[in-house]
Amino acid sequence: MKIIMLGAPGAGKGTQAKMLSEKYDIPHISTGDIFRANIKNNTELGKKAKGYMDAGQLVPDELVVDLVVDRIKQQDCFKGFILDGFPRTIPQAEALDYALNNQNEKIDYAVNVDVPDEAIIERMSGRRACVGCGATYHIKYNPTKKPDVCDVCGEKLILREDDKAETVKKRLEVYHEQTQPLIDYYAKKDALLTVDGTQDINVVFNTIVGVLEK
Ligand code: ADP
Ligand code: ADP
Ligand code: ZN
Repeated sequence: MKIIMLGAPGAGKGTQAKMLSEKYDIPHISTGDIFRANIKNNTELGKKAKGYMDAGQLVPDELVVDLVVDRIKQQDCFKGFILDGFPRTIPQAEALDYALNNQNEKIDYAVNVDVPDEAIIERMSGRRACVGCGATYHIKYNPTKKPDVCDVCGEKLILREDDKAETVKKRLEVYHEQTQPLIDYYAKKDALLTVDGTQDINVVFNTIVGVLEK
């Protein structure tokens, strides 16, 4: 099963992607996590990406496309994969289609987690992220067992620099301008599954699984 997650920053893409990845035993590939790991390790890619990310802008297509196309060719992706945070622009979607086409493959579902802008700001101010394993939590909606410590790997949690209200507003603008057009793009391919992302995490998950297994 080849799935991509669509939705505004903070809509719950990562949360659902992680749950789907466990259920179907296919890799969860988050471009945001890949960039954050590169920044943490001070790589060339990390240095190039950091300025864009801190400003709430997208990293240029040429820095992300090859990275993803190479990743999904790896052995562990044969059964399928979940792309979280990619594609984010029409050129990225076209590059992905082109790469899959060459292998006679295609995206099965684009899961659009739909949450209005008003709800996003609250979600982001309460989001806590683990830089160790990429898990995300929410202080109110999805708390950890011990405060500020990741349930999965035990590392300390952080409030992401780009989750501050000012940067979130910018990211929402960028989303509407550059990423939202992908909803139409996948609808035209008959691959779109839109789910109401304001519901409880488990309700969202069960709704998605219900459609995938129809
Ligand atoms: P969120 O989970 O809030 O949607 P991500 O962790 O997916 O955010 O991404 C964080 C930042 O990383 C983005 O704001 C952007 O700067 C960069 N980024 C991630 N994926 C992409 C991509 N496919 N294209 C361009 N920039 C990206
Ligand atoms: P994205 O990957 O789309 O940026 P995340 O999965 O990181 O979004 O979720 C953003 C924040 O909202 C996190 O703090 C997460 O715990 C919380 N969250 C995710 N789904 C829900 C939901 N259905 N209801 C309430 N909070 C949620
Ligand atoms: Zn962790």
